[in-house]
Parts: sequence; C-alpha cells; structure tokens
Amino acid sequence: MRAESFAVTAFYKFIKIPTEQVPQVKKRLEDFADKTGLRGLVVLGTEGINSTCAATLETIEALKKFLVEELFPGEEIIHKDSETSKMPFARFKVDVRPEIVTIKNLEISSEEGEGTYLTPTQWNEMIKNDPNVILVDTRNDYENEIGMFENAIDPKIAKFSDFKDFMEREALPKDKKLFLYCTGGIRCEKAVPEVMRLGYKNVYQLEGGILKYLEEYPEGRFKGECFVFDRRVAVDSNLQPTNTYSSCPHCGNPGKERIACSNCGCDTVVCHRCVSRADRNACSKNCAHHIRRKAATSVSQSSAG
Ligand SMILES: [Zn+2]
Ligand SMILES: [Zn+2]
Repeated sequence: MRAESFAVTAFYKFIKIPTEQVPQVKKRLEDFADKTGLRGLVVLGTEGINSTCAATLETIEALKKFLVEELFPGEEIIHKDSETSKMPFARFKVDVRPEIVTIKNLEISSEEGEGTYLTPTQWNEMIKNDPNVILVDTRNDYENEIGMFENAIDPKIAKFSDFKDFMEREALPKDKKLFLYCTGGIRCEKAVPEVMRLGYKNVYQLEGGILKYLEEYPEGRFKGECFVFDRRVAVDSNLQPTNTYSSCPHCGNPGKERIACSNCGCDTVVCHRCVSRADRNACSKNCAHHIRRKAATSVSQSSAG
C-alpha cells in the first residue's frame, strides 16, 4: 500500500445488544475513533452493527481486533476491504436506529435465513450449472444502473423497503432457485427471510455481497461498477474508486453527464435524470437556487408587463 492511501472496510454483524447497552457500545466506538483517527459511519441498534470505516491500514487492523476481541468477544465478522488515495469520510459518526438496515419490518430476523449463504465460488458454480436460477438484485435503481450481475433482474425500486412489494407483484415462479445479492450482504439478510415468507422456498444469498465477490472475482459475472455509501461514490471491478462517476450535486446519485453550470459557468457533472431538468443545470444546490429565482423573477416580470 502506498503511503498516502487509506484502508476502507465495510462490515456488519447481527447480534442482540440489550437496549440499555447500546449507548455504551456507541461510546466505546467513539472513544476508539477519537484515539485512532478512525472515520466513517456506524449504524447501531439492538439488532447489531452495520458500518463502513476508513483510516490507515494499521488503524483498520486495530479496529478489526477491537471488534471481535473487545466489543463483541468471540464473534466472527466478515470484512469487505478496499483502499483509496482520498479519505472517503469527513468524520466519524455513530447513528442509533431501530433497524441497522431499513426494511421497515422489525419482525424480520436474519436468523430465518440460516443455511442460504453462498460463497462467491459457490455462487459462480451454481449459476453456471443450473438453468433454474433466477438472480434478483435487491439494491435501488440508481445503484443497479451502474453495475449488476449478468442476467439479474432489476426491481427498479427507489428504496429497499419497497423490495417486498416488488417480489409480491412480480410473482416469480416459486419452484425456481432465487439468488439474491446486494452491496455487502446486509440487505439480503433481511430480503431472504422476507421472500421466504412470501412462499419462495429455494432462496440463496451471496455472502459478503458484491464487494466480497469482487475481492475474489474481479473479472467474474458482475459487470460495471458498484455503488458505495461514501465519497468514493462507486468502486470498479478491482475495488478502486471510480473514474467514471461522481456524486450528482442535486440528488447524490452517481452521475457522468458533463455540463457547464448555467449560473456560474463552471464545468460540472450531474446524473442522467437531473441533466434533463433546466432547474438543475447547475454545479450545486446553491447555483440551482439562483437559477430558479431568476426564472421566477422573469416569469413575474413578463406577467407584470
Ligand atoms: Zn441527479
Ligand atoms: Zn455553479
């Protein structure tokens, strides 16, 4: 690793944390970050922890030890690792939420999906040899637009809590094998039990998600880039920060449409949805605001005249 690069790790663990202990776990994570300079976002709740963090490689190694030796002794945690030359987080933050991945159903437990995990190698093997496999991407539309597994179904949902409605509507043949995947595996931990409750019996999930898959098969069946939830926006198939996309200043989705801001004139990049909107022909929300104000003024002037 080069001297100026940072290690990034994504991980989650479903583990019951008693309500009264959640603040202590939060405090211990914050203390660790204060001491080490760790940055990132941790989502914490009574059902466990979900996070992406970045720091020096040394600190990330220390974090991994801290998690399984001190915070959750004896537990196993799968890490999805990558590196980047620019720090992808502005600070460290622990968010306490009722769900560590939002499906809006507190009754769904990841334990119901036991026995459905496939390693990247098993995943490849089973896709290759079986015509009865249906792949479904559980991620959102703006994620799927920049990269998906070959032959996967895109549910075209705007948020994960709409996934169940999609599966109900779509009514895929229940005798086929259903293969679900997401970025790092956590959404599938909830999506699998949810579709099993809908009557799908042969359901599998990609353990560690696309990020783990790309660690092992950069030239595999995943095509395109993988959206990530930090300043890198996306990673390519070698887990390097994207050279293709940047974060759209208006909606935050990955964008690659080059425009000149119609307020300040600077060169900028917006997403393919916002590029068709005159009020978003701008480099920032601030410039967009000026454009809207000018439009409103000219309308009121012309109606006055
Ligand atoms: Zn946009
Ligand atoms: Zn501008």
